[in-house]
Amino acid sequence: MSAKILIVEDEPAIQELLAFNVTQAGFIPLRASDAEEAWQQIRDYAPDLILLDWMLPSTSGVVLAKQLRSQDQTRDTPIIMLTARGDERDKILGLESGADDYITKPFSPRELMARIRAVMRRHIPVLASDTVSLGGLELSPESHRVTARGKPVELGPTEFRLLHFFMTHAERVYSRAQLLDQVWGTQVFVEERTVDVHIRRLRATLESSGLDNLIQTVRGSGYRFSTN
Ligand code: CA
Repeated sequence: MSAKILIVEDEPAIQELLAFNVTQAGFIPLRASDAEEAWQQIRDYAPDLILLDWMLPSTSGVVLAKQLRSQDQTRDTPIIMLTARGDERDKILGLESGADDYITKPFSPRELMARIRAVMRRHIPVLASDTVSLGGLELSPESHRVTARGKPVELGPTEFRLLHFFMTHAERVYSRAQLLDQVWGTQVFVEERTVDVHIRRLRATLESSGLDNLIQTVRGSGYRFSTN
C-alpha cells in the first residue's frame, strides 16, 4: 500500500510539480489549493503526510498547521511546511505551529523526497518498506513475509502490523492506547483489550520457534519488544 501525500499549494505550477515528484517517488498525491479543499481531502482520503505551503489564500499554512494539530484525525499526521521564506524566525514559527519539518523554496525534488522519507520513517515506520531483522525474526513489509529462526511464520494482518511496529520500536514500552494509535490508527475505535488478544495470538505463533518471549508484558504499563 502506497502512502498518500496531501499537497496543499495554491500555485498550480508548483502543485503540479510536487504531484509529479510525489508520484515518481511511488506515493499517491492528493491535491488541495486552500484550507477548505485540504479538509475535504483529509475527510475523504486520510492522507499519511501533508505538504503544506506557507502562503495560501484566506487561511495561511501556519494557521492550517495549528488547526491540523488540534483535530483528532490529523493530530499525528506529519506535516512538512513549504515556504519561500528562509529566515530563522519563520522557521521557528513554522515548527511551533506544529510542522515536523520545513523546506525552503526553491528546493530540489531530491531534497524534498529525502525529507518526506525521513519524516515518514520517524512517524509511520509501519509504512517503511525496509526489511527488519531482530532477535531471530526477519520481517519484510514488501513481500509481507516473516521468518522466525529462518522458518516461515504465518501471521494475520493485525499481528503482522503489530510485529512490524514492535520490531521498529524495540526496547521501548508502549501502553495499549499507544499501540492502538500506532498500529490500528487513530480513526478506528477498538477497545484496549483487543490489543491483548492480538498480543496473545502473536506470542502463540512465535512460540514454536521459541521467540515468544521477545514480546514482554510490562506490568501496569503495557508491552515491549525486547531482545534482552
Ligand atoms: Ca502559495
